[in-house]
Amino acid sequence: MFTRVDLGYEPSRFVNLGDFSDDLSCPICLGIFREPVTTTCRHVFCKNCIKMWSMKSMTCPVDRRKLTKLHKPPILIENMINKLLIKCDYEEFGCEEIIELPLLEQHLKCCAESQSLASTPILFSYGYIK
Ligand SMILES: [Zn+2]
Ligand SMILES: [Zn+2]
Ligand SMILES: [Zn+2]
Repeated sequence: MFTRVDLGYEPSRFVNLGDFSDDLSCPICLGIFREPVTTTCRHVFCKNCIKMWSMKSMTCPVDRRKLTKLHKPPILIENMINKLLIKCDYEEFGCEEIIELPLLEQHLKCCAESQSLASTPILFSYGYIK
């Protein structure tokens, strides 16, 4: 069911994106960077996005300069991404967690396990009793 390639994150899933969405969005998928990388011409893309792009074209999608090497993103971008707070992928299944982006993968693993354990309606509604 979830066979999609991991591109950028849906911007609406972040709770503290504020005015930074333009600075942190990938020109290819228009999502928020996932594993950002920088081209030699200093444009930033998600790693998977620019890899897929480079199978079709060896020029930068923004300024059409030749793509050569990929580098680590500017530290500023990395810091901003690491401070973002994102809603859990399982929000629609009842998880109300808001997680720092660097901790998301870890949370999703635990969350996926508890989702399958908590599949009975009684356990599921238990979390809402105050
Ligand atoms: Zn992307
Ligand atoms: Zn470029
Ligand atoms: Zn969760």
